[in-house]
Amino acid sequence: MILILLGPPGAGKGTQAKELAARRGLVQLSTGDMLRAAVAAGTAVGLKARPIMEKGLLVPDEIVIGILAERIEQPDCRNGVILDGFPRTLAQASALDDVLTNKKLKLDAVIELKVDDEVLVERISGRFSCAECGAGYHDAFKPTKVKDVCDACQATKFIRRKDDAPETVRARLLVYYRETSPLIGYYYCKGNLHVVSGMGPIGEVAAAIESIVEGAKA
Ligand code: AMP
Repeated sequence: MILILLGPPGAGKGTQAKELAARRGLVQLSTGDMLRAAVAAGTAVGLKARPIMEKGLLVPDEIVIGILAERIEQPDCRNGVILDGFPRTLAQASALDDVLTNKKLKLDAVIELKVDDEVLVERISGRFSCAECGAGYHDAFKPTKVKDVCDACQATKFIRRKDDAPETVRARLLVYYRETSPLIGYYYCKGNLHVVSGMGPIGEVAAAIESIVEGAKA
C-alpha cells in the first residue's frame, strides 16, 4: 500500500504517519528525517542540505528524489509505505509516478491534512522532541507528563528543530503554498485526493485517515 500525507508544515503529517505506520505495519518515509540524519552524519548530501533547510527552503529535487528512490527499494518497504513530506514539488510527484510505474506499484491514496494558517504557526513554534527516542511533544498541547522527562524512554534531553523558529516557519509556509500546494490539484485530477481536517484532536484525525485507508484498500 502506498500512501501520501500532504499538507503544510505543522499539519500533523509526521504524527499521523507514525500512528498509521504502527497500526498498519507500514514504513513511514519522511524525507525531512532522512535529510536531518544526513546533516547529523555530515555526509555530502547533509552538507549541501543543511544551509537550505535552516532557511526553510527546499532541497533540490534531484537530491531528494535520489534518496527517496533508494530508500523505497529497501526490503522493509515491501509491505507498503507512507510518504511524509514527499513529494513537495510537481517534479518530485512526476518522479514518484515513474518510480511506482517501474516497480508496478499503484498509489492508493493521497491524504491532504487541512489546518488554518494561524494554528500552524502556533503548533510548530512549540514543538520539541526527545533527543534519545524521538518522541514528539508540544509546550502547550502535549507537554511531557513529568517536566523535562520523556514519557516514552525517561531521557532528559530534548531537541527543538532550528527551522521551527517563527521567522523560518513563515518562510516554510510560503514555500509550501508556492511549490507544494499545486500538488493538491495534481492529485485531485488523478482521482487520488482525499481531504481531512487536521484541526481536531490527534485521535479524531487518525480515525478519519483510517477510514480513507480502509476504503482505499477495498
Ligand atoms: P520536514 O521535516 O518534512 O518539515 O522537512 C524539513 C526540511 O527538509 C524542509 O523544510 C526542506 O528544507 C527539507 N525537505 C524535506 N523533504 C523535502 C522534499 N521532499 N523536497 C525538498 N526539501 C525537502
